[in-house]
Amino acid sequence: MPTLTTHRFERLIDPGGHDPAAPGWHFLIADGQLLLLDGDGALPLPRVWAEITEAPCDPAGSIFLGLLDGVPCWAAALTPALVSVAAARWIGLRAVYTELGEELFWLAGRAAQLIAWNETHRFCGRCGVPTERLTTERATRCPRCGLLNFPRLSPAIIVAIERDGKLLLARNAAFKNGFFSILAGFVEPGEDLESAVRREVREEVGIEIDDIRYQGSQPWPFPNSLMIGFTARWAGGEIAIDGREIAEAGWFGPDEMPELPASISISRRLIDGFLARAAGAGTERS
Ligand SMILES: [Zn+2]
Repeated sequence: MPTLTTHRFERLIDPGGHDPAAPGWHFLIADGQLLLLDGDGALPLPRVWAEITEAPCDPAGSIFLGLLDGVPCWAAALTPALVSVAAARWIGLRAVYTELGEELFWLAGRAAQLIAWNETHRFCGRCGVPTERLTTERATRCPRCGLLNFPRLSPAIIVAIERDGKLLLARNAAFKNGFFSILAGFVEPGEDLESAVRREVREEVGIEIDDIRYQGSQPWPFPNSLMIGFTARWAGGEIAIDGREIAEAGWFGPDEMPELPASISISRRLIDGFLARAAGAGTERS
């Protein structure tokens, strides 16, 4: 998880006597949204389960996340119709970033991913019997065949490619609002990260690259990606888009930036890195 600066978060797995019905911070999730409680608490999150809903608190449906400044944090799914508090409202995960700040955004993302995992691994995928949640590590186990299931992460590479002081940006056909970003794609089984970077770039825009350098990573809870960021240099070929996944692509100088992704994303961080390098190069020349 990205560094927490304001809060101290300890990731723990075994509840060790913590009770989800006792006071704590509840990250309640429904359809990728988080329940906020407008009030005078330290955080705009529910503290006591019974004050939010008359539905029983089900320990099997609650996932212990850890301690935030010493306070137990829980993730659970809750049907919106069961919320019985007028001051409660649901907001999308991305809006959590702007309303609650970066630290709670990452925690809410973690909660949403673990809830999705909990809901989709209640039965063994091999023999169909109900699974048990382990208390020694974040996993479920089938009591009949022993199959273990860990929370699913989907690693994806993302790469900022430069050529002669310009950055490769592309508009994905699936992006609703027409913004441009750098290239990204999921890593395939049996592939190392550098091969995934080369393959995605070749598939999406038909160019060759070199000087692939790791720049950092970021969990991306939409729904369960881990983005692994790189920079690279153009090494050959001209842009030829696939026409399906990529609708438009080109080389953009620092003064020619189109509409860019939100600042919460690693793609924006890599683009900002390019802009900072370009500004530095401009300063050196003048
Ligand atoms: Zn099984």
